Amino acid sequence: MSNVSQNPFAIAQAQLDKAAKLLNLDEGTHQTLREPLRELVVSLPVRMDNGKVKVFKAFRVQYNDARGATKGGIRFHPEETIDTVRALSAWMTWKTAVVDLPLGGGKGGVICNPKEMSQGELERLSRAYIRQVGRILGEKMDCPAPDVYTNAQIMAWMVDEYYWMNGENQFGMITGKPLELGGSVGRHDATARGGVYCVREAAKKLGMDAKTTSYAIQGFGNAGQYAALLHQEILGGGKLVAVSDSRGGIYNPDGLAPKKIVAHKLKTGSVSGFPGAKEISNADLLTLDVDLLYPAALEQVITEANANDIKAKIVCELANGPTTPEADEILHKKGIFVIPDFLANAGGVTVSYFEMVQNQYNYHWDLRTVYERLDKKMTVAFAGVYKMLEDRKSDNLDMRTAAYLVAVERVATAMKLRGWV
Ligand code: NAD
Repeated sequence: MSNVSQNPFAIAQAQLDKAAKLLNLDEGTHQTLREPLRELVVSLPVRMDNGKVKVFKAFRVQYNDARGATKGGIRFHPEETIDTVRALSAWMTWKTAVVDLPLGGGKGGVICNPKEMSQGELERLSRAYIRQVGRILGEKMDCPAPDVYTNAQIMAWMVDEYYWMNGENQFGMITGKPLELGGSVGRHDATARGGVYCVREAAKKLGMDAKTTSYAIQGFGNAGQYAALLHQEILGGGKLVAVSDSRGGIYNPDGLAPKKIVAHKLKTGSVSGFPGAKEISNADLLTLDVDLLYPAALEQVITEANANDIKAKIVCELANGPTTPEADEILHKKGIFVIPDFLANAGGVTVSYFEMVQNQYNYHWDLRTVYERLDKKMTVAFAGVYKMLEDRKSDNLDMRTAAYLVAVERVATAMKLRGWV
């Protein structure tokens, strides 16, 4: 995305290097974890509506599968790069490990602009991706999911193409499917729900009364909208004072009603212009005097330039990579408690994993079961990371580094047990 100024894979490697040093990882283990185990780069010839064939470049990166099949979304994006896919596949590896799912990390991408393509073209592109990449996919090998500009319909075309290639229905080879084709209930709000469970646990540790917190949200898509609603539902209170989307932000120190903003956005396409609220820029939203900040839009929005001005006590990173490493250090010095992206937004992949399990059993759970199991997974994961923070008090870690130590140690141990390193 255009606001990204640093190479995301370089950031991912730098974060790993820091963890490797703190864990005293041997050189072989460290180097194995620094690079993806497998990458597939393919060309996809697709017949467009005008009768001509257009060739799209596409990727699938399987970063590490020592703990189980790799898992991670497929992005359709005009500015996709192999380094973005590599970084995201590394983060998926740490994400599945930190919540202790029996999975590894992967990611896929196609360089295309879905906004300029018809439904027919998107279907042919999705099927072409599976014809090329399907040979390395499967519930025991690598399991994709929706991501930026891909959705349940695209997953349905993909699982269908896989069926034609293999002669049998293997619903567990991809997640985020429509409910009618083996999707799981509870996937729609799982990312935000997992983040709010983490906030609940963080508030307990910090001695904050979660019911009386004020909060602001950058981004009002899937993650942001559900965070707005679930913060109050799960914590039993809280005052939403600001939200934004790509067209602008709204602010009301007396509080905004999440349900009404969702309805307003549905009607007008944006949160902007919400009655009774003042306009606020995306930059000013980040530095508001609130208890909690949820970045839920873009990468690299909290940087060296604005980290000193952040006033929130807790930052819950629903977006991937919203904080740069330089900003991380500043926030840590200021005593701001950051719930790092690969823990805060792990609710999504956790329910995706539940979908795989349900597909393997061919038996579906109800919503309550999904919520209870998600709550348990997130609560245990948060506690594990917090314990690492306390156990290594003398190292003065932040939560991101503590989460890295938990995750990297788990993957390194799996590799050692298998005899890889
Ligand atoms: P989405 O496309 O549904 O929503 C993105 C939102 O960000 C939109 O409201 C958009 O208007 C807003 N936005 C775009 N540019 C902005 C800007 N400059 N300033 C403020 N807002 C802006 O996406 P999503 O699924 O909600 O994902 C948001 C973030 O959460 C991404 O980083 C994504 O990788 C991460 N995430 C999402 C999931 C999930 O399950 N949805 C899982 C893990 C991580």
